[in-house]
Amino acid sequence: MADGAQVIECPCGAIIDGEDATTVIAKAQTHAKTTHDMELSDEQARSMARPA
Ligand SMILES: [Zn+2]
Repeated sequence: MADGAQVIECPCGAIIDGEDATTVIAKAQTHAKTTHDMELSDEQARSMARPA
């Protein structure tokens, strides 16, 4: 899926960006886990992603 650069804005104010949805979702999941001790599902992360 070539959907271009994506960005997720975390409720804490962190901006997570990546070259594609897969990258930004993985980074958001890592951020949620390490920063918020929270499991973020692919679906949740995907719903937060928007074109950068
Ligand atoms: Zn955060």
